Amino acid sequence: MVDLVGQHAKIQPELDAAISGVLKTGAFVKGPEVKAFSEELAAFTGSTHVIPCGNGTDALQIAMMALDIGPGDEVITTGFTFISTVEVVALMGAKPVLVDVHPDTFTIDPEQVEQAITPRTKAIVPVHLFGQMADMDALMEISVRTGIPIIEDNAQAIGAAWCGVDGLHGQSGTMGLMGTTSFFPSKNLGCMGDGGAVTSSDDAVAERCRQIANHGMSRQYHHDVVGINSRLDGLQAAILRVKLRHLRSYISARQQAAARYDEMLSDVQGVQIPVREYRSSHVFHQYTLKVNPTHRDALRAHLSQAGVPTGVYYPVPGHAQKAFEQFQYDARKFPVSDALAASVLSLPMHTELTEEQQHFIVDSIRNFVDINK
Ligand SMILES: *Cc1c(COP(=O)(O)O)cnc(C)c1O
Repeated sequence: MVDLVGQHAKIQPELDAAISGVLKTGAFVKGPEVKAFSEELAAFTGSTHVIPCGNGTDALQIAMMALDIGPGDEVITTGFTFISTVEVVALMGAKPVLVDVHPDTFTIDPEQVEQAITPRTKAIVPVHLFGQMADMDALMEISVRTGIPIIEDNAQAIGAAWCGVDGLHGQSGTMGLMGTTSFFPSKNLGCMGDGGAVTSSDDAVAERCRQIANHGMSRQYHHDVVGINSRLDGLQAAILRVKLRHLRSYISARQQAAARYDEMLSDVQGVQIPVREYRSSHVFHQYTLKVNPTHRDALRAHLSQAGVPTGVYYPVPGHAQKAFEQFQYDARKFPVSDALAASVLSLPMHTELTEEQQHFIVDSIRNFVDINK
């Protein structure tokens, strides 16, 4: 599904220099590399502040703590996402109010967000799933009108940009009050362990996030609020600085691979290629097909036999997860998420994917006899 070994081999001298630089300074937690990376990522995204932290799940938690989200509060989000988005709301003692997604783009349906708003709603958390941004035109309009802040879960779409019909534009993670992202190795900007960040252009909110991520500390051993311990390592920051320099070319490699898949799959019956949201660029964290649910798992097994790995993101939507039983979701309210869980199939997608490999993958799909039925 990914080829990090191949990707890193091409930039080995840069990585070696970055890593040995950290070994020489001994700044393993925080320090100059972390500061420099934060500044460079801020410049890349166009966000005023980048608050580095331990991982993308912590980033969501820090953002929610900055809004004082807790018992009695509600956060509107989607269950068609990685577990963290919903899990953190529950962890804060608040209620994750789940709404369904759009059948083509797989991102949160703004009309249902609107209907789910109550006086207890403290935040809206759209997920820019698979590398494409949620409908920020509609979501920002709701946020501005109601005053409910948006936290963009940007773990899968760093570097994507929105260009709305009404002139609204911005990079993923910088349009809402806060954005959160992850540097997990397989993400589009990945480190060699765990890492994450909160982005914000609001000075006060950014300061709060920084404080929360550092034990609620205002100055050494003076703690003003209850915080957590969530930090980015110096080594990870040094590695991320190297990889950030290549992120634009990594994104175009993914986009080119996606265009080749589109072309190769155009004569294959029974698969729907990813639908593009015309107002967002797509940075292809995943290249996800929709196939007939009755054949999906058999196709997957057939591909696996041929040596082609695939992924199902995500087989169980949030409303059906045992961990969230306590919230008693009405299972009939998520027909799109349920249908997607049964029909999505992600193909290998990474910066090192060759045309030859893609031909092999697509031929393997074509050879699956049941695909036409
Ligand atoms: C990966 C991911 C996260 C969590 O990031 P971690 O660094 O693994 O904690 C959160 N949300 C989404 C949508 C993700 O894909």
